Amino acid sequence: MSLTELTIADAAAGLRKRAFSAVELVRAHTDAIGALNPRLNAYITPTADAALEAAAHADAALARDEAKPLTGIPLGIKDLFCTRGVRTTAASNILKNFVPPYESTVTANLLRDGAVFVGKTNLDEFAMGSANITSAFGPVENPWKRKGEADTVLVPGGSSGGSAAAVAAGLAMGATGTDTGGSIRQPAAYCGIVGLKPTYGRCSRFGTIAYASSLDQAGPMARSVRDCAIMLQSMAGFDPRDSTSVDRDVPDYSAAIGRSLKGLKVGIPREYRAEGLSAEIGAAWQQGIEWLRAAGCEIVDVSLPHTKYGLATYYIVAPAECSSNLARYDGLRFGERVEGQTLDAMYEATRRAGFGPEVRRRIMMGTYVLSAGYYDAYYLKAQKVRTLIRRDFTECFQQVDVLLTPTAPTSAFAQGEQSDDPVQMYLNDIFTVPASMAGMPAMSVPVGLGDTGLPLGLQLIGRPFDEETLLAAGSALESAAGFTHRPAIRAEGAK
Ligand code: GLN
Repeated sequence: MSLTELTIADAAAGLRKRAFSAVELVRAHTDAIGALNPRLNAYITPTADAALEAAAHADAALARDEAKPLTGIPLGIKDLFCTRGVRTTAASNILKNFVPPYESTVTANLLRDGAVFVGKTNLDEFAMGSANITSAFGPVENPWKRKGEADTVLVPGGSSGGSAAAVAAGLAMGATGTDTGGSIRQPAAYCGIVGLKPTYGRCSRFGTIAYASSLDQAGPMARSVRDCAIMLQSMAGFDPRDSTSVDRDVPDYSAAIGRSLKGLKVGIPREYRAEGLSAEIGAAWQQGIEWLRAAGCEIVDVSLPHTKYGLATYYIVAPAECSSNLARYDGLRFGERVEGQTLDAMYEATRRAGFGPEVRRRIMMGTYVLSAGYYDAYYLKAQKVRTLIRRDFTECFQQVDVLLTPTAPTSAFAQGEQSDDPVQMYLNDIFTVPASMAGMPAMSVPVGLGDTGLPLGLQLIGRPFDEETLLAAGSALESAAGFTHRPAIRAEGAK
């Protein structure tokens, strides 16, 4: 098996057995990036030289038997995480030359555990989008192809589309993502990989460029459930520099893999059935239900009655927070500046040149819903509905241990297919947004290929801080599905 096809777990074992060196492993990935990134555009900033240097240090640590859990493992980092001395753009023109003087906590944790960063991955500008088409650095191509349509370019999902495409195509063994309303789970589903959005507060937000602070959460994206557990182990934990980070022990996530599911109660929310679900995803969902039943789970019909308000409230709360968070890009303190005759003219010129259309749309929506006279009617009302959405989940979790739903209503669509209608694009998030609004952990697992040969993902949603049940149930789905399919465009052979 080629080095770009291994899981993190297998690669870590191979490094310890000296089956290959960290330099060989990392070089296989940086070479693959060199060969395929011009096409896929999964990375905004590949960092091959620094990665090979870090790999040499990893080999030295391995030789001294001082390997840490991720020593020598090549990872992609979503370009929303500040990396000290490495350009961090949020895929925006306004930060196109921003080199952070500090490291985000999540990436610092991964570095502490020996990970080697092979580059900064592409995303929707400021993580706003569902197709990775709003990046100022150009769209990402999904490495998967519809059957018989080699020339149709599909989207990888978004906003963590670069991370998902990189992991699927073998340009990284795993990658970080962030998820505000689905940005880890939906691209994971579209690219046939596993993506886990932890409980809000599980991973520190320090040094992650903010989109909507009450929703943003970092998480792992990888080719197996176990690899997500390994990455989360490193990424999670209390951080006094993030006031919403929660001071709670980080359990041994890998221990949850393969745990017996006997007696586990799995809820199937009936509201998720109606919402524009494609037939192939409906069938995959039913199959997932059968697999969990066969693994000893009890399947329970449940109701989340406020689901229907999820998207509407999300697209008030998230833009409101974004308009406030992005106010800091004023041409004075961070990023690009376009001069003007007056201070106001400078602000206007800077922000007009710096932000793309989707980001501007969100800032305008957010400013509107926060403005005097509309605040009560929109923002406050949305926050109240958010409480009801959260209460739905809390009540459900008195009856069941975990929920199983589809991740997205369809498989990956083609570039241009939904992009001229923002509302159509927002509908992609219909199944992922409720768990985000409630702060619950959720994970997407690939369970098969649809009629056109594209991967389909199912979503598990768990109780707050019970990522272990997601990992246990996710690994059961993973073994039952035996998903070993690989995309048409991939590294092996690229050398
Ligand atoms: N697609 C959603 C949005 O555009 C979610 C993005 C995200 O999770 N960052 O807001």
